[in-house]
Formats: sequence, C-alpha cells, structure tokens
Amino acid sequence: MTLDLDALDAIDVHVHVEQDAHGCLSLDQELMDASAAYFKADQDRTPTVESIAAYYRERRTAAVVFTVDATTATGHPALSSEEILDAAAAHADVLVPFGSVDPHDAAAPDRVRALAARGARGFKFHPSLQAFAPNDPAFYPVYEAVAEAGVPALFHTGQTGIGAGLPGGRGIKLRFSDPMLIDDVAADFPRLTVVLAHPSVPWQDAAISMATHKANVYIDLSGWSPRYFPPQLVRAANGLLKRKVLFGSDFPVITPDRWRADFDRLDVKDEVRPLILKDNAVRMLGLG
Ligand SMILES: [Zn+2]
Repeated sequence: MTLDLDALDAIDVHVHVEQDAHGCLSLDQELMDASAAYFKADQDRTPTVESIAAYYRERRTAAVVFTVDATTATGHPALSSEEILDAAAAHADVLVPFGSVDPHDAAAPDRVRALAARGARGFKFHPSLQAFAPNDPAFYPVYEAVAEAGVPALFHTGQTGIGAGLPGGRGIKLRFSDPMLIDDVAADFPRLTVVLAHPSVPWQDAAISMATHKANVYIDLSGWSPRYFPPQLVRAANGLLKRKVLFGSDFPVITPDRWRADFDRLDVKDEVRPLILKDNAVRMLGLG
C-alpha cells in the first residue's frame, strides 16, 4: 500500500502525533493545556497515528505526521519515532511519516540513519522547543545524515504556541526559531531540502527572501488560519513562490477543515491552488 496520488485531493505537510498507543503524551500537561488555550482548540488535542489516519482518509488528504523529540530541553520523554513509523506503515495510503531526533543527543546522526532506514520520509526540528541554534556547526552532522538520506528537514519557525501565556514562556526562546539561522543550513547543505514551517512571525519577510533565493527552501503555511496570513505572504504565494509554498494545517491545533475553508476565501489564483494544496508537496517530498 502506498499513496495513490490520483485519489488524493491534498497533502497536509504538517500534522502532529500527540499520543502513543500506551496513552503517553508528547508534552507535559502544563504545555499541552497552554497550547490548547492559545489555539482555542476544541477538537481532540492528543490524536494518535490511528485516529489521524482515519480522519485524513475520510478527507481524501494525505498527512505528513511526526512528533518532536525535545527530551533534553524539556525533560519530558519523547514519543517513539520508531513506533510512529511502524504504525504509519499500516496506513501508507494516507500517512507520510517523518522522524524526530533530539539534536543534543550525541547519537542523533546515527538515529537519523536508523530512522531513515526504517521508513522516515523526512525529519522535523523545533529549534525553540528543542532549545538549539540550528546554525550551530555542532549540529551539522545531524543535517549531513538527513541530506545523505535524501529526505527533507522541516523546521518550526517563528512564534510558537508551546509555552504561550506562561511565565517566561516556560523558558522557551523564540530567537532559536528565527528563519535566518536556517539560511546558514540551507546554504551549507544545498542538496538538503529545507521547509520553513509556518508564517514566521515576526520574521515573515526573511522567510520569503530565503525561499526566493534558495532553490532548496520551501515554506509551509501551517499553524495560522489563512485569514491571518500577512499580505506579503499571500502576494508571494500567488506569484514568485507559487511553487515553493505548501498546505499544512498543524493539526490538531488547527484542523484541515478550518484551514481549507479559510484558504478558499483567500485571494489566491485558481491555477495556484492545486500547486499549494498538493503538487508542491509531491515535489518537496520526492513522491513524483
Ligand atoms: Zn509543528
């Protein structure tokens, strides 16, 4: 079983698995509750691989699924990327699993290789939650392993709902998610496909510049309802970057239903819509 691209209407490149088969959650309860409040999420905040597969299959939409391993930074045990890969393999008609490694773990490059061999189709990084500067050369062996595997690296950029509203944002530093730090990575690894996740508030213009300048840089549009997209992002999506921007919801904090309803009302050219919803993701993920 694999993705049947003709049977799919769209590919959502940003979906979080938040609970494993043993009932463990991806974040501690305080961070989980704070982010649910920030996003005013009334849907299930902690979906499993199984529930995501059923939900997306109903919508004829593929989902790129992952967790974030921030064990060192948060002290909270990560969900197992191995288990996510194995569970997603049973739903290969709708799920495209990514892996996640803790960049502070000395074994991270080896883990990238092992996860790629086990079926990871990309890797998710969250510099703020994982508390690392993505352009620190100490982490370059991790990117080397991702580049060797020939799969994309997707980085959270900009403001995060995790820690939002808590004193000190629970110690989470936004500056690590400045996309310009990732410009170094994209320059130093020209064969590595890099995805800048989210409208990179407050660095939107930097993200647009990077995706314009570097062939290997994409932008995913997840984490914000399209009705709040800054005008320069909409302009770029309609023109210069029409082959570089990707539909992503950030499920479960935003549902693909809400995202797409708001996207329908956005001033985007008809011929550009299928590029954003599906075709650009096919190319970015190497599915073509
Ligand atoms: Zn994310």
